[in-house]
Amino acid sequence: MQLHLSTWPEVEAYLAKSKAILIPIGSTEQHGPNGLIGTDAICAEAIATGVGATAGALVGPTINVGNAQHHLGFAGTITLRPSTLMAVIGDYVFSLARHGFERFFFINGHGGNIATVGAAFAEIYAQASLRPGENPRPLRCALKNWWQTPGVQTLTKELFGDREGSHATPSEVSVTQHVHPEAIKRRNMGTPAPRARNFTDAADYRRLFPDGRIGSDPSLASPEHGARLVEAAVRDIAEDYRSFLARD
Ligand SMILES: [Zn+2]
Repeated sequence: MQLHLSTWPEVEAYLAKSKAILIPIGSTEQHGPNGLIGTDAICAEAIATGVGATAGALVGPTINVGNAQHHLGFAGTITLRPSTLMAVIGDYVFSLARHGFERFFFINGHGGNIATVGAAFAEIYAQASLRPGENPRPLRCALKNWWQTPGVQTLTKELFGDREGSHATPSEVSVTQHVHPEAIKRRNMGTPAPRARNFTDAADYRRLFPDGRIGSDPSLASPEHGARLVEAAVRDIAEDYRSFLARD
């Protein structure tokens, strides 16, 4: 069930049986020679949609721009600064909380969002703690990175080995090829630049990784691999979502 495709009476009826919502969060950033700019948002949304269908959960609108300052050296990238992303997450959560939502399960497609999402959760809890008196309906938030689930990790190792790399990976490109077969790009690419040290800003990143990849070989991507990765991620994350709710 998608929030965008629901009416307000349907959302009210959903709230009578569940106070939880899934929120996909991604990024809008370069993904190497054959990867789509929307990769991280596309992956998070496709997997959240699958988890929503499996677990009977409502899926909120994707936060499709994240923290991507270090990719701004490449055309098409858009970033929110960390403080903006924290404000966006807080406004999503408090808007939904006003209607009675209490459990917020974010499904993330971008490593660069992790620290900021954690800080946004800390800000949300601080706001709740600083209100006078006991909070009758405590909010709880969780973040799940789809590429780190056990099923996905096993499959990634089996399919791509050490050619998975860490940015513009064949896994995430495969997922986008499965979701958008009409947008598959074929590009020749050589060996990726080695990861010599950590990067700082956009200019530094582009100097270190001239074609945008970090250690990956996304020419190995295929829509078939993408279908298997989505299936593995949905299976694992639906389970995590159920345990998240069972903690009450
Ligand atoms: Zn990505």
